[in-house]
Amino acid sequence: MTRTPTLALRQRKAQLLRSFELPPHLLHASLIERFLKCGKANCRCHSGGPKHGPFFYLNRCFAKGQMQSLLLKSPDQVKQARQSVTAYAHVLEVLDQITQINQELLRRGEPLVAASA
Ligand SMILES: [Zn+2]
Repeated sequence: MTRTPTLALRQRKAQLLRSFELPPHLLHASLIERFLKCGKANCRCHSGGPKHGPFFYLNRCFAKGQMQSLLLKSPDQVKQARQSVTAYAHVLEVLDQITQINQELLRRGEPLVAASA
């Protein structure tokens, strides 16, 4: 990026900003897959046998190690959660690309918002 012409950086940024839409289904969370032991003491899962699952949870972290966990009960919920987490990751990726361009413009002593671009 340090060798890309400034104009090309500005055009790339403009393109990113134009094409950027906040996905309405985004979720800032982690999709977690778990295999668990059940409540039946005589079940094989308590004697080294396979555990039950997979169960899918949507985990959302807050400050100070607090976490909210939501059990996803249907395959459709899991599918939607997966898409939502991916959508959030995409937003971060675009923001990071814009950040990189702005950082490079700043390094060159260029204005971050050009009058003409
Ligand atoms: Zn069991």
